[in-house]
Amino acid sequence: MSDIDIRNQGRAGRITLNRPKALNALTYAMCLAVEEALDRWRDDPAIDLVLLDAEGDRAFCAGGDIAEMYATGSAGDFDYGRRFWRDEYRLNAKLAEYPKPIVSFLHGFVMGGGVGLGGHCSHRIVCDDTRIAMPECGIGFVPDVGGSYLLARAPGRLGEYLGLTAARMGPGDAIHAGFADAYVPRDGWEALKQALVETGDVTGLDAAMAPAPDSPLAAQQAQIDALFAGEALRDVLNALRSDGGDVAAQALAAMSRNAPLSMAVTLEMLHRLRGPSLNIRKALEMEYRVSHRIMEHGDFLEGIRAAIIDKDKSPKWRHDLDNVPAVDVSRMLMPLGKLSLSFKERGMKIGFIGLGNMGAPMAANLIKAGHEVSGFDVAGVTVEGAAQAASAGEAARGADIVITMLPNGAILRAVAAEVIPVMPPGAVLLDCSTVDVESARAVAEQADAAGLAALDAPVSGGIGGAAAGTLTFMVGGSEAAFAKAQPLFDVMGQKAVHCGPAGNGQAAKICNNMILGVTMIATCEAFALADKLGLSRQAMFDVVSTSSGYSWSLNAYCPAPGIGPKSPADNDYKPGFASELMVKDLGLAQQAAEAADADTPMGAQALALYRQFVEEEDGKGRDFSAMLPRFEKRGRS
Ligand code: NAD
Repeated sequence: MSDIDIRNQGRAGRITLNRPKALNALTYAMCLAVEEALDRWRDDPAIDLVLLDAEGDRAFCAGGDIAEMYATGSAGDFDYGRRFWRDEYRLNAKLAEYPKPIVSFLHGFVMGGGVGLGGHCSHRIVCDDTRIAMPECGIGFVPDVGGSYLLARAPGRLGEYLGLTAARMGPGDAIHAGFADAYVPRDGWEALKQALVETGDVTGLDAAMAPAPDSPLAAQQAQIDALFAGEALRDVLNALRSDGGDVAAQALAAMSRNAPLSMAVTLEMLHRLRGPSLNIRKALEMEYRVSHRIMEHGDFLEGIRAAIIDKDKSPKWRHDLDNVPAVDVSRMLMPLGKLSLSFKERGMKIGFIGLGNMGAPMAANLIKAGHEVSGFDVAGVTVEGAAQAASAGEAARGADIVITMLPNGAILRAVAAEVIPVMPPGAVLLDCSTVDVESARAVAEQADAAGLAALDAPVSGGIGGAAAGTLTFMVGGSEAAFAKAQPLFDVMGQKAVHCGPAGNGQAAKICNNMILGVTMIATCEAFALADKLGLSRQAMFDVVSTSSGYSWSLNAYCPAPGIGPKSPADNDYKPGFASELMVKDLGLAQQAAEAADADTPMGAQALALYRQFVEEEDGKGRDFSAMLPRFEKRGRS
């Protein structure tokens, strides 16, 4: 039987969690299934509302299924957990922002991931046995799945109290704290569900509601506000210890079991979040800063080990209760830059063909960002986290985007002929190789004829840029295809320039590299001349790098060893960018210039010189800046 039952019934989209033996713990697959259903029902005129409930007597959902996270995380693979969290948090936001009513029936235990699922819905119903809690600090984590949003909005300092102690709320408390909306006695639930399904109208809820039971927490609110007002964990502990009352003693006992770093971070999160600009996305984004780091730098794995794996209930936390340095808290909450939670839709299905020096790190970055990559390379190489396809066609089948990173235009044409027939309509063929303009345009025409879009998007930035995700893409093709590929450019690079129709990306690349080849030669010539004129290389660099002779070749990639920023010259001219690749690019420029009848004497001269360097001298396998030692050795004749 499936873990989740998703169906249309009357006017309602119905989702029923169906893992009662596991207290309906939410698996990754269940998360994705809920999201898929919500996406489907959003614009379905037959569906007026969504009804979310669970099988079994004991729990609506007692949390996220963390067994797989532990297995992967303790083996040093943090990407699985990060992917799970990213997709789950996107679902939490979707539930909170859904345009149709979602009615959640929260019986029994509703904890962690269960709060994320049922606690952000528009109409949250509780009954007598409801027990809601955010117990994450007990397993070395922090309240997540949007729990920090609910906690930050709870009255007074209740959020701090609930987050740090993991206290369980009955129905009255849950309504008082803002985790639920309506109390309906359990024996009225079936009739209510029936009415909702038949009418698709949530106003029927009013008749089923009963007055909320008392809230013990409301009665303790003033005490809790005083005890949990501290700025940092130490302040809260001091207040609790000096109080001596029952509320303080019980809170202290609960907190002494929880992870000190988790509690300190939770407190800081709530302080930062609370305020007029709070919304669920802001809270989830902050939570994800912690999730991203918690396995590597926090107590999460140790917490799960002690609670669920070894069940020894004796976690060895990283910090003592009284000694959590503020800097450790700040580190957990530092912005993640490009790795921030983005709420982008689920990762694309990507076929990646050509996993060489450039392709492999580019594919790895896409996998890290949550995309599903199927890779193929004739050399049999693979990338961790990618499915290894047996052919280019297999990698491309069903893909939203197929990326190629291949040696030349002839190979690109052959691969395109194999993948275009198997790509689904509307998919994009994104070629990032450096190839001739003609091949790029021919491939684009074939793709167009097959109802696909093609982009030529060669890159600048080299192997370092590919690994760091800081490439620049120069892109030819339609606006629509460019827009579709933009999220991938954002992952693999720092900038993507749309240069116009098909082939214009390659045109930009060829022109850029023609300038690069020419300026490198000019820079190397000038250094060799300066040597002979008795001008020191440092003086030459200092003057030219800030005068009209400056260029990227000199300023960023200086061909003189020991001068300017670090470059291949400082590493015995190991590439970097090999001279033979420069021959290839200058050749492409001349080929294009001939076809377009453009006069490019400097480009032609640069090609001749690099070709001589590679074919007749010692240039092969050396960086293209090794022109400097070449000129050094030579005189005028
Ligand atoms: P590479 O030789 O390391 O990688 C090319 C890969 O393509 C190889 O692994 C090869 O096995 C694979 N391949 C060849 N034919 C194939 C086929 N039919 N099907 C599947 N795979 C096939 O080269 P690279 O350095 O990764 O460069 C790739 C492209 O990027 C080139 O066009 C290059 O000009 C361009 N580029 C390279 C750099 C750089 O610094 N290396 C910088 C910018 C652009």
